[in-house]
Amino acid sequence: MEVAIVGAGPAGLSLAWFLKGTKYNATVYEALDDVGKKPCAWGLMSGVESLLPISKESIISEIKGFKIYLNDKLIHDIRERKTLGYIINKPLFLRNIAEKVDVKFNSKVVRKRENGREEFYLSSGEKVNADKVVISNGHYELPREHTVPAIQYLTDYKIDPEVVEFYFYSDLLGYAWVFPDDKGAKIGIGGYADVNFLKEKLAKMVKGKVFMFHGARVSDNGVEEPRLYDRMYVGEALGTVYPLTGEGIRPSILSSKIYADSLLEGKDFVKEFKSSRLYFSIQAQAKIIDGVKKNVISIGLLSKLITKSDPDLVYRIAIGDFTMTDLIKLFGRSLL
Ligand SMILES: Cc1cc2nc3c(=O)[nH]c(=O)nc-3n(C[C@H](O)[C@H](O)[C@H](O)COP(=O)(O)OP(=O)(O)OC[C@H]3O[C@@H](n4cnc5c(N)ncnc54)[C@H](O)[C@@H]3O)c2cc1C
Repeated sequence: MEVAIVGAGPAGLSLAWFLKGTKYNATVYEALDDVGKKPCAWGLMSGVESLLPISKESIISEIKGFKIYLNDKLIHDIRERKTLGYIINKPLFLRNIAEKVDVKFNSKVVRKRENGREEFYLSSGEKVNADKVVISNGHYELPREHTVPAIQYLTDYKIDPEVVEFYFYSDLLGYAWVFPDDKGAKIGIGGYADVNFLKEKLAKMVKGKVFMFHGARVSDNGVEEPRLYDRMYVGEALGTVYPLTGEGIRPSILSSKIYADSLLEGKDFVKEFKSSRLYFSIQAQAKIIDGVKKNVISIGLLSKLITKSDPDLVYRIAIGDFTMTDLIKLFGRSLL
């Protein structure tokens, strides 16, 4: 059975990887000439090591600590002996997978409606012949209002290579970060604000010599329910990004794992996805964001809750490793 996968990001490549050697013959179509070109801070949280190869060469550093700041004041300094995640060289990580699956570069896929059916073509005009098409094209075709801008500077500012820093502000529904990098640090910000506001805030954070400035939009609205029921989307195209932190690599890979397992085990993807921890935690975070947008909870109160709560609880909510009881502990029942 031929499966065409549209987009060679973490979601598309991992889906091809999970289907490799099965009755599903997967081909990934990538619009660009290489992988890993999309702006990203390259933070990969633990949880996918047993699913995919993460070569030693692609690991820039192992994350063992989290610093959480509120209005530039350090409020939680979490340090662990164990590895919490990695700063990866994302292009290298993706290239290692791309070399082991079938990827066609410079192959942008476009949809056409023909005789009431959706058909897929390469921009060259060639038809994509497949029994199944899976869309893993990231944020590119998401409704604009379901995404926020995220921008970052690549700098030579040296920070502890084992610690990632997250910044929250009481005047921004969003997040900022300082992540270690092989050359120094990636310093970025994203959220519900216009790019000029984000640029102004980021200008106050940036340190060291700047090599590059870039940005992209990122999903911040939770799982795209209508797309879920289409049963042909994975990764950020399905909305699998944690809205509170913008983390999208690990959840995108996990969504592809659920998709591949559903195919291989003849199960319904919607049912499997909806019963997953991934779905619960993304939707719970999306609800928190929605609560702030609708003024059910103010950013000020959210900030206070983050400041006063047990650091371990704040950390687990940020990375999506929480239960309903944890949420009730943090927010009470009103928001939920
Ligand atoms: C500034 C910034 C920093 C970020 N930092 C982090 C971070 O540190 N950690 C983290 O976990 N997440 C981060 N994210 C989010 C993360 O990058 C994405 O959520 C993640 O890459 C999504 O993976 P994906 O495979 O679903 O989509 P993508 O990585 O976006 O891949 C989609 C691919 O599809 C291709 N494509 C698009 N349209 C077509 C088409 N029509 N035909 C063929 N190919 C197509 C694209 O070229 C692309 O290669 C960041 C996002 C931004 C904007």
